[in-house]
Amino acid sequence: AKKAVLGPLVGAVDQGTSSTRFLVFNSKTAELLSHHQVEIKQEFPKEGWVEQDPMEILQSVYECIEKTCEKLGQLNIDISNIKAIGVSNQRETTVVWDKLTGEPLYNALVWLDLRTQSTVETLSKRIPGNNNFVKSKTGLPLSTYFSAVKLRWLLDNVTKVQKAVKEDRALFGTIDSWLIWSLTGGANGGVHCTDVTNASRTMLFNIHSLEWDKDLCEFFDIPMKILPNVRSSSEIYGLMKISHSLKAGALEGVPISGCLGDQSAALVGQMCFQDGQAKNTYGTGCFLLCNTGRKCVFSDHGLLTTVAYKLGRDKPVYYALEGSVAIAGAVIRWLRDNLGIIKTSEEIEKLAKEVGTSYGCYFVPAFSGLYAPYWEPSARGIICGLTQFTNKCHVAFAALEAVCFQTREILDAMNRDCGIPLSHLQVDGGMTNNKILMQLQADILYIPVVKPSMPETTALGAAMAAGAAEGVGVWSLEPEDLSAVTMERFEPQINAEESEIRYSTWKKAVMKSMGWVT
Ligand code: ADP
Repeated sequence: AKKAVLGPLVGAVDQGTSSTRFLVFNSKTAELLSHHQVEIKQEFPKEGWVEQDPMEILQSVYECIEKTCEKLGQLNIDISNIKAIGVSNQRETTVVWDKLTGEPLYNALVWLDLRTQSTVETLSKRIPGNNNFVKSKTGLPLSTYFSAVKLRWLLDNVTKVQKAVKEDRALFGTIDSWLIWSLTGGANGGVHCTDVTNASRTMLFNIHSLEWDKDLCEFFDIPMKILPNVRSSSEIYGLMKISHSLKAGALEGVPISGCLGDQSAALVGQMCFQDGQAKNTYGTGCFLLCNTGRKCVFSDHGLLTTVAYKLGRDKPVYYALEGSVAIAGAVIRWLRDNLGIIKTSEEIEKLAKEVGTSYGCYFVPAFSGLYAPYWEPSARGIICGLTQFTNKCHVAFAALEAVCFQTREILDAMNRDCGIPLSHLQVDGGMTNNKILMQLQADILYIPVVKPSMPETTALGAAMAAGAAEGVGVWSLEPEDLSAVTMERFEPQINAEESEIRYSTWKKAVMKSMGWVT
């Protein structure tokens, strides 16, 4: 059959906490042509520990690339039209591998992992000068969430890692670095790099000078030789080179030319390029980012300052204020995997719809402590307000409501820090397929919630960065390039007073979740 003629295509790897995807877009219209998705295992070897297998992650990327290319073939689309590949990834998750064998030296420590709590406590007593030492350089509070302490744990506890560092064989990276190194040849010439957005989540990166910070590396006692080179979010890092043990040879030689942490990628994919534009992504966790332009704005209300993007070597860096919520979609996965009250995440909507209210039940899913705006590691999950009447449908509803309340808390903090309240909320992520959740969110925020018809904005952002890179130049990052994307709006339906009462009861529940661990 004759293959259809098309404009240049761009592929994107979206490696999330829950799953891996590969997607292919038409660079002229942003239309999603084909994709494939594979769920990723999460291991919980001890209470508070969360690990993933870096090899499984890599294999899942290959599998998704292969299946997507197959589907394109069935659509008569020639894969040689794919001109570039972007990578977007779960942030902070930490891998150390052997550069001679390409083997990971331990499982990846996932961002949600809490094993470094005592390391954080010890370090916080040793902060030199004033308490602002880490925050003023990185925009981040000293927390288990970020890579530096995870890497510290691996260096302290894993003999293989210690040995490899001594023998100069160890490389550190977040998932972007692990994937780009592996996809560009691994032990046979793989490129060891990261981009400014991912680097800004390690707690080792100076977000003003855009370099690894010597003082921070000294403070965390991290050997700088194992760190990747930091590049912009949009430039050619290397070419796809497929190893023999894995197939997917189809894309051999295609440049990898975009790299953004998932939340930055979503900001780009939602075209939030102006000062004051914001988006909220509902995945495993929930992350609200507001573009603050070229200014580094520091929060007085528990938000992080982070690098939004730098779309080209000679382009300026943009910053964002971020409200991070650890547990959003993960609470649905927990109801599925740990309680078994649903078989698929989608079923939560049916349960919630049956009752249409939590009937006074509140669920604070502080499984990993509380992130923004509280930064309270002592918190643990609670379900409260139960009566004899409460059933699983109410709990399901309360779980969805929890995601909305947490978003309300970070939106309130954002409005206080920015001074100008958001008039509507742009949303995306796996959970936004849930219509009840979207309506509840509009009711609880009391502003409209706006969702693009194509919810894969994270992948789209990575594809845009890859397509716009110097030497690729198939994507211009102008709004008209998104002509295939339409919007769906959810307007608030309950009155503000009712919404406020529910919200204040939620806050009472949050207070009860704190102080469980000392
Ligand atoms: P990530 O990028 O963190 O991997 P995704 O954006 O893929 O996450 O979203 C997956 C998360 O969303 C999972 O935790 C899943 O439980 C949740 N989820 C998916 N579909 C729904 C739905 N219809 N209702 C509620 N939660 C959902």
